[in-house]
Amino acid sequence: MDKILRINMGAENGPQISEEPLGDYVGMGGRAMTSGIVSKEVPPLCHPLGADNKLVIAPGLLSGTLAANSGRLSVGCKSPLTGGIKEANAGGQASQVLARLGYAAIVLEGKPDDNLYKILINADGVKIEADNSLKGLGNYDTVAKMINAYGDKVACISIGPAGEMKMASASIACTDMELRPTRHAGRGGMGAVMGAKGVKVIVLDDAGKKMRKPKDPEKYKAANKIWVAGLTGNAITGEALPSFGTNVMTNAINEAGGYPTRNFSEGRFEGAANISGETQAELEIARGGKATHGCHRGCVIKCSGIFHDKDGNYLTKQPEYETLWAHGGNCGIDDLDAIAMMDRLDDDFGIDTIETGVSIGVAMEGGLLEFGDAEGAIKLIKEIGAGTPLGRIIGSGAAVTGQVLGVERVPVVKKQSMPAYDPRAIQGIGVTYATTPQGADHTAGYAVATNVLGVGGDVDALKPVGQIELSRNLQITTAVVDSVGMCLFIAFAALDQPETFGALVDMVNSFYGLELDGDAVAAIGQSVLTNEREFNKKAGIGPEDDRLPAFFQNEPLPPHNITFQVTDEELDEVFNW
Ligand code: SF4
Repeated sequence: MDKILRINMGAENGPQISEEPLGDYVGMGGRAMTSGIVSKEVPPLCHPLGADNKLVIAPGLLSGTLAANSGRLSVGCKSPLTGGIKEANAGGQASQVLARLGYAAIVLEGKPDDNLYKILINADGVKIEADNSLKGLGNYDTVAKMINAYGDKVACISIGPAGEMKMASASIACTDMELRPTRHAGRGGMGAVMGAKGVKVIVLDDAGKKMRKPKDPEKYKAANKIWVAGLTGNAITGEALPSFGTNVMTNAINEAGGYPTRNFSEGRFEGAANISGETQAELEIARGGKATHGCHRGCVIKCSGIFHDKDGNYLTKQPEYETLWAHGGNCGIDDLDAIAMMDRLDDDFGIDTIETGVSIGVAMEGGLLEFGDAEGAIKLIKEIGAGTPLGRIIGSGAAVTGQVLGVERVPVVKKQSMPAYDPRAIQGIGVTYATTPQGADHTAGYAVATNVLGVGGDVDALKPVGQIELSRNLQITTAVVDSVGMCLFIAFAALDQPETFGALVDMVNSFYGLELDGDAVAAIGQSVLTNEREFNKKAGIGPEDDRLPAFFQNEPLPPHNITFQVTDEELDEVFNW
């Protein structure tokens, strides 16, 4: 992983490929790499879909090694949704394969001609060619064509029609171990930027390439052993997530009164039990699917699963908690089959399930359809895939949908939709939503773990006390985790078990021959956040945008009948370290 691949899609005689050493970006991976390149090379005021924006795809620092759960791929650019810097990450096989091919980043630059391109990267090098037969295809059909052409040992990074249409909710899909395009860099419209670069699919083939070798193999192996023991021995990462997936959170968050229901108007959903992780796992097993499944080789948590339809045929991967909430309780829907169908359509069209579900919730509030109308929601998603005028509005995200329909209760920060935790009942996540440079994003500093599950401390979810410090520390740690390429779910174990976090640091040190201590690790996270905030400021997104929409301060949320209590002055303290 000692080189950067650049493809100038706007070169005079067609796409131009070049490779270069890491230079200024040495020591960076994942989110540190994407935010490093974007903040240094992309003009903050450029149009996100124009020639000056760059799409950066970077494996984490430990991807392509034997480290468990190290297969997250970061994708970064200036976001068409938020207008600020963005990093979205995805599981699947792509990160491991790209790292083994030796690339620390792929950078797509420039503005192409009217062709749609596919890129093949293998041990022989890089090939790019126009393939307009891919135009308009869903992710599933796109990947099927790639398997036909290049065999079934590859990994694919692709966009669906939403990306081609440059919608602000468009995602980038990565294939899982079974070559299904089910793992998405979902947030912030990454797919629209890949579409704007004219790239439909990147095929990665690491045949002939070996696992990356650490500088100190013995120390690395020993640290990984402690790491795996920490993950598999933890009650959440070793039991709850493998048994019920991320959807194990439905009952817990609903019980806590923080499950945003019918467009954030209530904190408990009467239909939660029908779509909970426990119910879903039972159904998956009864239909011959799987209640536990890893999205990439080397995952020891396996929070995913396989969802079959009523006839026992594969429909989609196990919809995650966020998806089940966005299309479920947030829209007043408690039908697992309908939600699984929406998940399948989202994956195929290439759209973010959170942004799409929240946009539909806002559309329901705006009177376009009734809360609870599952068929109507499916039809709306199909409109997105078909690119009808209404579909393009919904596919532009919740902020645009709310504006078009005259809705006041629009749960977005920096124009990005809030995920599945109401900040009034879980105040710590509200601090993260408000202040992260990414726009409302639970993964940027998952205070839910501490507020609701008591992981890594005890900070009362309903009170503002301690939430600033909690969110600050989590945002710094998360920026590091995203840069190393670790799946965020490792945090449940690493936050509570010092020896597990220590093993992660030991792996980075022994792999790269470093001697980082806790302060040095924190400094990496701080520098990523500083880069991102500076970019945003130059793009016109400042501290005054680190706020929640007013209704969170004005409308008490049942059942606790509480508002968001953290003050603006306190929010301004998050990045004072
Ligand atoms: S825990 Fe889940 S999201 Fe994380 S790597 Fe494993 S399957 Fe993928």
